Amino acid sequence: MDTDAVVVGAGPSGATAALLLARAGHKVVLVDRARFPRDKACGEGVMPPGVEALRRMGLLEHVLATGARPIAGVTYQHSSAAARVKVPFPAPPGGGPAHGLGVRRTSFDAVLVDAVRREPFAVVREAECVTRLIRDAGRVTGVTTTSGEIRARAVIAADGLHSPIRSWMGLRVSPRARLRYGLAGHWRVETRDLNAITVTLAGDHEWYEAPVGPDLLLVSILTERSQPPVTPRSYAAAARRSVPALRDAELVSGPLGAAQFHQRVRRVAEHGVFLVGDASGYDDPTTGDGIAIGMLLAERVAENVGDFLTARVPIEVAEARYARDHIQLVRDRRRLTQLALFLARSPHLSRRALERAVRDPRALGKLVAINCGYQTFRDLTPRDWLSLAGV
Ligand SMILES: Cc1cc2nc3c(=O)[nH]c(=O)nc-3n(C[C@H](O)[C@H](O)[C@H](O)COP(=O)(O)OP(=O)(O)OC[C@H]3O[C@@H](n4cnc5c(N)ncnc54)[C@H](O)[C@@H]3O)c2cc1C
Repeated sequence: MDTDAVVVGAGPSGATAALLLARAGHKVVLVDRARFPRDKACGEGVMPPGVEALRRMGLLEHVLATGARPIAGVTYQHSSAAARVKVPFPAPPGGGPAHGLGVRRTSFDAVLVDAVRREPFAVVREAECVTRLIRDAGRVTGVTTTSGEIRARAVIAADGLHSPIRSWMGLRVSPRARLRYGLAGHWRVETRDLNAITVTLAGDHEWYEAPVGPDLLLVSILTERSQPPVTPRSYAAAARRSVPALRDAELVSGPLGAAQFHQRVRRVAEHGVFLVGDASGYDDPTTGDGIAIGMLLAERVAENVGDFLTARVPIEVAEARYARDHIQLVRDRRRLTQLALFLARSPHLSRRALERAVRDPRALGKLVAINCGYQTFRDLTPRDWLSLAGV
């Protein structure tokens, strides 16, 4: 099968890229080894820039219709202190929704895939695994799948955190970071009065709560090595002990797990292959921005690949421009993740920072704005840094 672009992976990054390319009039094949709706370990919070991306694509109403919950901000608390502070999401600089969303990945990802399915220039192929790249004279010119070959002028790899395409391209840099893992489960809990994500810092682990439906609370743990260790088997008991809302609640599904978050790449585009979303490098789910940044990166990839497909620029220029856009989008967010992990690992420091934020939440508010891409680290003043240090 010959097409303009083949997109491997139909998560939020791949589906967004495929949708935008198809809407621009390019022939696209979107392939995923899963059949949708499919589930995935996730904290299920979509940050405000992701909501804005959904609005731009005309899909926000569709997502809300699945029971997704508007999220007004993030509440941070410490397991060993009374400190608790709610930081509202900041308004986007150019206007637009100042809220995030709590979503079920089963329905959220399916809304995006269904939107691609409706496009006349797009073909969605599910339950089909990509097994190999096709190369011609140094360029990648398609993929081999469990059903045959797909020849394409550009290949977009949106195949997730442990991207096989990234490895086949030799673009993966061996991770140096410590191994963190996450477990996420859904609980039957009345969520009518909840409109924030709650993050509880507990020293060697963190708990995250997000309302994702009228009576559904997503509760996830992220940890390197908690004491005692939380495993899929002990998750439910540990969650009930640690999250008061779960004491008498029913575990409806899960837990699903994921591990080894820190992934780095040598390059995000090379030889006709463009990496997007988690496949293009990842740090840690702690800042909850993977879906949003995946969609923003997909917008950039669609524009640059589109410029190549319409012969406005050669492929090398499209690759270089996408690499520049990628750095601009992820640089400060990566720094922020490192800062968040540093604070989470230092119980004394994070407790002091939270106690300080209860009195003056401005510095914490700026970190949330940096996570949204609305501010940069240059906007942090010496006073903000002192505040984050608990002074
Ligand atoms: C515990 C945890 C909590 C998280 N919490 C949040 C949160 O609250 N908010 C947030 O925004 N992000 C969160 N994230 C991150 C978020 O889940 C990812 O950033 C997001 O799913 C990335 O989307 P993607 O489209 O790049 O990849 P994915 O959603 O992973 O999609 C990749 C797709 O590629 C397909 N695929 C892979 N290999 C092949 C192949 N060989 N052939 C065909 N198809 C293939 C897979 O089936 C999959 O459907 C969390 C992650 C974890 C693990």
